[in-house]
Amino acid sequence: MIQISKPQITEKDIQDLTAVLKSGMIVQGPKVKELEEKFAKYCETKYAVAVNSGTAALHAALYALGIEEGDEVITTPFTFVATANSILMQNAKVKFVDIDEESFNLCPKALEKAITKETKAIVVVSLYGRPYDQEINRIAKEHGIKVIDDACQAIGSKLGEKKSGSFADISCFSLYATKNIMCAEGGMITTDNAEWAELCKRFRHHGQSEQTRYQYFDLGYNYRLTDIHAAIGLNQLAKVEEFTEKRIENAKYYNQELNEIKGIITPNIPTGTRHCFHQYTLRITKDFPLDRDAFRAYLSENNIGSGIYYPQPLHLHPHKRLKMDHKEGDFPVSEKVAKEALSLPVHPSLKQSELKQIIKVIKQVS
Ligand SMILES: *Cc1c(COP(=O)(O)O)cnc(C)c1O
Repeated sequence: MIQISKPQITEKDIQDLTAVLKSGMIVQGPKVKELEEKFAKYCETKYAVAVNSGTAALHAALYALGIEEGDEVITTPFTFVATANSILMQNAKVKFVDIDEESFNLCPKALEKAITKETKAIVVVSLYGRPYDQEINRIAKEHGIKVIDDACQAIGSKLGEKKSGSFADISCFSLYATKNIMCAEGGMITTDNAEWAELCKRFRHHGQSEQTRYQYFDLGYNYRLTDIHAAIGLNQLAKVEEFTEKRIENAKYYNQELNEIKGIITPNIPTGTRHCFHQYTLRITKDFPLDRDAFRAYLSENNIGSGIYYPQPLHLHPHKRLKMDHKEGDFPVSEKVAKEALSLPVHPSLKQSELKQIIKVIKQVS
């Protein structure tokens, strides 16, 4: 089976892990600090704060921006549930706004119409690694609201020379096992704002500042990353450019081979954008001989793994605090795309022969 994702663990990771275990400093220590410094340097932000998941990163970012009970926060229904759950974790209100069909990301026009006096922040998602539309920053500024980039899938993406992690007021990354770079479970927050960085540090450590332990400023959680995880994260971060280039190369090959096939819409990469291709996602439309689910089954029969991210937009789940009064038809673009999206393996350890095999199998249907 050609897998949809494949974490790469090397001998060096095992050696570095062993060194941490033997050092006696196994929790949040020098490796976490080093990872934060290198992450900030990579993203070209002033600060990076490590936490133990992308979800924790989002939760801490919302806290740092002062989002609290009853505040309205806008986000997209076409994302992983953690994006919206982190808003609920601050007891804030989720307000969904539909996406743009071509980018899969929050639609600036729809956003502009949805903003009210109650809106305090926007959580944009740079889905599959495609940076969110920067028009959103302009709209947010005009209305005096803050932007959080859920960049959990977007490490290595760029707009011009600027990296993902530096576009929004605060950005959040996941270092979960299947992400472009990982440390099993982990997360990172990037920002240029010293106060928000400090608030995130407190929040991950039960409301204590690093300078004054056992003095509790506010409610906080145990969101600390360990040095064991950070040791893997450091090795992965050292390879982020190599991994990203490989993903882009794989995506370009797919685009070139699949562009002309009727019923398949390949991802578009606008000029000046570097898309890190966390996912390479096709849309399988009515003009294709098989429907999306049948096509996926066919790929599987041919030992090709694929993924559907995400099969159902968030407002159509039984999850009451996200469903609210919503019904089918409320966010038609998200609903349509959820039926069409299919992601192919694009990870850096794919062999040329595997890519060729995937193309061959796809061309046999069309
Ligand atoms: C992975 C992911 C998250 C959550 O990250 P975890 O590390 O699993 O908590 C949030 N949002 C998006 C878009 C993700 O892909």
